[in-house]
Amino acid sequence: MAKTPERALRLLKKLWPVAIARVEEEVAQMQSLADAEAVGIKIAPWDYRYYAEKIRKAKYALDSDELKQYLQLDKLIAAMHFVASELFNFEFTLVPKGQVPVFHEDVKVWAVTNKKSGNFVGLWYLDPFARPGKHSGAWAMEYRSHESFDGEVKSLVSNNCNFIKGTPGQPVLISWSDAKTLFHEFGHALHYLSSNVVYPTLNEGRPDYTEFQSQLLERWLLTSKVTQRYLLHVKTGESLSKELLAKIVNVAKFNQGFETTEYLASAIVDLLYHTSPLSGLDPDSFEREALNTLSMPDEIVMRYRSPHFRHIFTGEDYSAGYYSYIWADVIAADAAAAFAEAPSGYYDRELSKKLVKREFDGKK
Ligand SMILES: [Zn+2]
Repeated sequence: MAKTPERALRLLKKLWPVAIARVEEEVAQMQSLADAEAVGIKIAPWDYRYYAEKIRKAKYALDSDELKQYLQLDKLIAAMHFVASELFNFEFTLVPKGQVPVFHEDVKVWAVTNKKSGNFVGLWYLDPFARPGKHSGAWAMEYRSHESFDGEVKSLVSNNCNFIKGTPGQPVLISWSDAKTLFHEFGHALHYLSSNVVYPTLNEGRPDYTEFQSQLLERWLLTSKVTQRYLLHVKTGESLSKELLAKIVNVAKFNQGFETTEYLASAIVDLLYHTSPLSGLDPDSFEREALNTLSMPDEIVMRYRSPHFRHIFTGEDYSAGYYSYIWADVIAADAAAAFAEAPSGYYDRELSKKLVKREFDGKK
């Protein structure tokens, strides 16, 4: 999407002064804490995480066990299907066991159809639980991509996570960050399912665009329709209190100066390497000069220093591509703001037509 290095760099440099201004505030907070402790230090990079953690405990404390009681896996899956139905017009119907072959008994399959036309869209597989030999983390992938080059081929899409199964018959409870990841990866799945390309090669999205879908969908976890209907206490059935919701929103702002700055420093240096003549370049002084020019705060180091920054020269997909995370983040923030301002908010039917071209909007 960025098209030229200059456009990518322009965005990063626009964010930079805001990020380092926030670092200044964070350091001031930490410094006054250290002064109050009379430890006689000036905050340095090796103090940052230690004092940030103290600030988090004092000002942003969130009881993750308390929060977990509202995060039942089955209800979150139902919430995601609800969002997909409202926004994408997709209806998810659980396929009875045995009708579609799966590689493990934990894997469930849903048939996805278009709510208006009844047309079949594809299959959605969910492999939720950890087991020996399974790759760690959470991800979305396609077993088969949509195309219509030589007849209509439907998508076979999967979401994979590593939750702990728990007691049979008992609801599985997950953490807030896992719930966010679940929505994030489901955003990728919805993107795959929305494909209307003719040529199979066009299914391969660019990184600064594909993360937009997933980062945007995370926002629906905090919409009131989801929190009130699906985030229900496992014992009392009550929905999340206003206080707890406010805390979640507040926590998202914690340490953002640090995180944005350490990230941006790496993303900018990545682009500078790729736009500079490489012959005779000394990475040590190159990095030093780049950071000097940026007025990198003394209290922070870049997230990846040049010698262990895999993104820089690891291949066509990653090289000069570290900017793409924040690029997608900015578009997702813009799109979320558009939904927040729309007449029906995050569930505005007119605006969701701009997000995805749905069958009843004229797609064949
Ligand atoms: Zn992603």
